[in-house]
Amino acid sequence: MAQIRCSSLAAPFPSETLYSWLSRIGMLSHGGSDSGFLSEFIGYSGEQLTSIFPSYLGTLAQYSGINSRFLLTQHTILPYYRPFIRTKIYSEITNALLNREKSEAYSKFSLLANRIPEQKLLFYCPQCIGNDLECLGVSFWHKEHQLPWVDVCYIHETKLVGSVKPRKVFVLPPQQVNVGKACSSYPSAESILLAQESARLLNLNRTELDPSRHTDTYIKGLAANELATTSGQIKQAAWFDSLDNYWQEALPKEFYSALFSHQAIRSFPVNLIYQPEAQHHPLKHLLVIIHLFGSFEKFMSSYSSLEDQSIDCESPQTLHERVSREQINKLLNKLNEGESLRQAAKAAEVSVGFAKSTALQHGFEIRRREQFLFSFERKQILDWLKEGRKTQDIAKLMQCSVGAVEQILTQFPVVKKLRNKLRFYQKRYKHRQSITVYLTTHTKASRGKIQNDVKASYYWCYKHDKSWLYKTLPEAIPRADRYKGQ
Ligand SMILES: [Zn+2]
Repeated sequence: MAQIRCSSLAAPFPSETLYSWLSRIGMLSHGGSDSGFLSEFIGYSGEQLTSIFPSYLGTLAQYSGINSRFLLTQHTILPYYRPFIRTKIYSEITNALLNREKSEAYSKFSLLANRIPEQKLLFYCPQCIGNDLECLGVSFWHKEHQLPWVDVCYIHETKLVGSVKPRKVFVLPPQQVNVGKACSSYPSAESILLAQESARLLNLNRTELDPSRHTDTYIKGLAANELATTSGQIKQAAWFDSLDNYWQEALPKEFYSALFSHQAIRSFPVNLIYQPEAQHHPLKHLLVIIHLFGSFEKFMSSYSSLEDQSIDCESPQTLHERVSREQINKLLNKLNEGESLRQAAKAAEVSVGFAKSTALQHGFEIRRREQFLFSFERKQILDWLKEGRKTQDIAKLMQCSVGAVEQILTQFPVVKKLRNKLRFYQKRYKHRQSITVYLTTHTKASRGKIQNDVKASYYWCYKHDKSWLYKTLPEAIPRADRYKGQ
């Protein structure tokens, strides 16, 4: 635990769970048993320490002077549930928690738990652990890795490793790099998507979605996927089969069978539409959203365009009076030519808002600017920049503009330098390799022949890596002997 001693206890690390922080405090502050410390520090009475509702929230807020609402939002997974819980109930839950009435919070929350089995493990990502140890000197439990039935790291796209959930003792993930062996099987694209969209949902901290508009959006998505008629009639069996097929290989077996294999009580997924007022677990919504729309963001675009339409309906004439068909055509042409939303809107003399909604209606993907990226997405971009990935590739992966990635890069001049160095090392490696490989198959080649046969690498090394080149090349033939025997 020597490394843990070096790390700060004053506050949780970004994305650290409260249990993880409490464990670090506990491991450092007491000489006796965990239970002795717990009863003294938080008045512990035997509840599950890793619970979604940590009863010690108030104690930690007092101990650190950090606002308890902030701790709740940033260091628990509660915001993941928020879009799918009535605002009134969500605030009752959070108030109960803040007032240390944990059982009250639990009873309100249990509404959501229907048919979603609870997981018995805590999860960590070996690569995240490596980064944490390198940057902070300690590894800890990340909230994004504890999201329900997510078994892939949303950043590294590798399988998470499970560790038995302790009930009343302190446990942290391994404190050594390469201890947690990465799982050999590669996760499916769907399970990666589920991990990333779950993390996105958590970090959005979005307020409640309107149930009826939510339902309309689902019907729109079903119609687009030919799982509902244009009049909105749902093809129930086809939807179930298609959803089942999509997730079959991607979900952990226990969860998959809890949700899909009880044929007799097959209420999911149609109950999301037929009982919009009932509260359904966010995971059920996410499975449907990813299957129909591809991502939560695309679902929200569709949801918001319904909102725009409903506003438009109140004054159907005004929009058409102000914007002519020619303007719309011009806008679409400019977008087709690859111009930015802003440029296209300017050329067509329409507002950016109008341009955006028209673009979405016509299936254009909106590339987000830097200020529209979430903080965890910015962190991911920065990590990839540090790895030396191309800005164009990152923009594609994050569905944002290249400008947004470059803007982040300009904020970190050190990373810019690092990337230049990386590029240099990559080139150096490539050219050294090609000369080395050549030399293994041409052991008797003279300097002149090498220069001729691997020209590009020879000249690059001559310019940038001369001492290595001369050390590697065979001895030069003395000038006087050069033309002998020719
Ligand atoms: Zn990771």
